[in-house]
Amino acid sequence: MENAVEVVVKWSGKEYKISNLSESDSVYSLKKLIHKETGVRPERQKLLNLKLKGKPPDDDCLLSALKLKQGFKIMMMGSLEEDIADASSPPDDIPEVINDLDIEEEEIAIESKDVYLAKIDRRIRDYKINMLNEPREGKKLLVLDIDYTLFDHRSTAETGHELMRPFLHEFLTSAYQDYDIVIWSATSMKWIEEKMKLLGVSTHSCYKIIFYLDNSAMISIHTPKYGVIQVKPLGVIWGKFGQYSSRNTIMFDDIRRNFLMNPGNGLKIRPFKQAHLNRDKDRELLRLARYLKDIVHEEDFNGLDHRHWERYRPRKKNKQEAAREDGGGSSGQGS
Ligand code: MG
Repeated sequence: MENAVEVVVKWSGKEYKISNLSESDSVYSLKKLIHKETGVRPERQKLLNLKLKGKPPDDDCLLSALKLKQGFKIMMMGSLEEDIADASSPPDDIPEVINDLDIEEEEIAIESKDVYLAKIDRRIRDYKINMLNEPREGKKLLVLDIDYTLFDHRSTAETGHELMRPFLHEFLTSAYQDYDIVIWSATSMKWIEEKMKLLGVSTHSCYKIIFYLDNSAMISIHTPKYGVIQVKPLGVIWGKFGQYSSRNTIMFDDIRRNFLMNPGNGLKIRPFKQAHLNRDKDRELLRLARYLKDIVHEEDFNGLDHRHWERYRPRKKNKQEAAREDGGGSSGQGS
């Protein structure tokens, strides 16, 4: 008798056991059974770690060639037809980018997924931004989380100032010289406005925030690692404002998965918790202000790895840049 094959498919945070297979069945038969269990059509399935000599096997490849262990776990990416339809019309011209580096595979697959790009398109179209201040020409963009980034929202206190991260206003004042600033929090707009008022951010005279984004500008995605989660896709801002892109945008958040749609543009900061204990020693915002200054001469942020931000050393300024700064008054980006 032929050897029976049993595998487990992980998709959207759940596991599906697939049996009724034998080694003489093809990859396509496996995909049809996965379709039956999950509803994801064979042509929409990406079986991430199913490999033949390092590459995804063809549909007619036999399972015997893959030498799967019993109970082998397959990580799947794939969208249901109704999800794609829900998220407006998916663009046809998005290339599928999947490389063989296992460590990045999941993030890249997510970044290029049609259904998420369609959701972002819908946010670009439908999400209404209430402009507080105008973008300035030649500035880069800084996007900031609130909770645990600028503010300890879990401790109790008499005033907002007790829970505010130390050096918040100094940090924003410094960043504002080179960056337009956006606040993006996974809460409601009402709460964002209240908090910014409470902390004195909305009325400060030394810097301005260009707008706030709330949870309804976020999108939900599913990942094998985290299940269904809400993330903050910078593509929503880039689609609405042509002057900002992955080349000049940086985002701070205490939760790395918020960057999943644009991992290269996120910097995971240390969370500010237990304000009463840490208020006197937390220097994170001072150090981050320094980093923002140090990288401002980089023409393309895609060349930076923010995971190593503390080790970054600015390159020496060239003569032109030095002269421009001596001249003063310039935004630093004019030509
Ligand atoms: Mg946070």
